[in-house]
Amino acid sequence: METHSNRSIVGRLAPSPTGAQHVGNARTYLLAWLSARSQGGRVILRIEDIDSPRVKPWAVQQAMDDLRWLGLDWDAGPDDALNEVRDICAGREAASVGSYVQTERLSFYRAALDELKRRELVYPCTCTRSDIEAAASAPHVGQEGPVYPGTCRHRQAADAVPLAGQPFAWRFRYQEWSLFPFVPKEYVDLVAGKQRCLPEELGDFVVCKVDGTPAYQLAVVVDDHAMGITEVIRGDDLIASTFRQLALYASLGWTPPQFGHVPLVIGPDGRRLAKRHGDTRLSTLHEAGVPAECLVGYLAWTCGLQSHRNAVRPNDLVGQFAWERLPRSPLTLTERDWQTLLSMSP
Ligand SMILES: [Zn+2]
Repeated sequence: METHSNRSIVGRLAPSPTGAQHVGNARTYLLAWLSARSQGGRVILRIEDIDSPRVKPWAVQQAMDDLRWLGLDWDAGPDDALNEVRDICAGREAASVGSYVQTERLSFYRAALDELKRRELVYPCTCTRSDIEAAASAPHVGQEGPVYPGTCRHRQAADAVPLAGQPFAWRFRYQEWSLFPFVPKEYVDLVAGKQRCLPEELGDFVVCKVDGTPAYQLAVVVDDHAMGITEVIRGDDLIASTFRQLALYASLGWTPPQFGHVPLVIGPDGRRLAKRHGDTRLSTLHEAGVPAECLVGYLAWTCGLQSHRNAVRPNDLVGQFAWERLPRSPLTLTERDWQTLLSMSP
């Protein structure tokens, strides 16, 4: 891997405005940003707002404010007024990149879905959640819920026409498709090392929901490809999804980016940091007058990038960044840690 001035590296920050950004999000964003910048690469900002029932309108601006407050910048994103900048940054025509907001990109997802239909890689699925739960065999209820039992797999794409009026989702033929050698069943993660999957444990997955909106798996693949992303850094709860996304890349004939999955920040109960653990919002720290450099310094310390919690800006850490320094276990944030963060001052 090249270590400096590699303009061909493109990383991304992809907040989901379903609520406030918290300390756990900040740690992942910092690592994603540092990884790209330490290789001389570019960073793009994309708003992942297609999960409409959960999206909060205020959260888009808040996420951008939080990132700027942290000192993380981007070369292209939804705030770009200049299409020319987009051209240069993404290395492509603005028209082919399109908007950096997912709800403004529906035509891209539709085109990819049409291609999957044309190749008979997706089929219409009329199963409800309870149908799937009833038909899935008990041992196949993993942490992601029951594995799809294949009830509608006999259908072809054209079978969607007579279903008109009946709600259906589009499901990707992952279990059959993964039998082909060109669909990766293993990959080397930048952070977590070699990963393997058992396709039968993932099952056929939804690429377009009943309401017609694209599923996360399809949207991120289409976006990362269109935006020329070469490096995807995100939480390690998405490792299983990576195999689904690798199958989509193989199906659409696209080159996948490199993936790096970082350990999550968890609460004292061992569960992923969330609202149930109390307030860990970045905006709370900001409003309490905590300098962003103090939080970044704390996060950098937890990432092994400095030996003390000295206040630093992300820019100051670019030279020190190395994945080898990151602890491979989750970071536990206790109430006491949060109080320590809240009381930090320059
Ligand atoms: Zn079905």
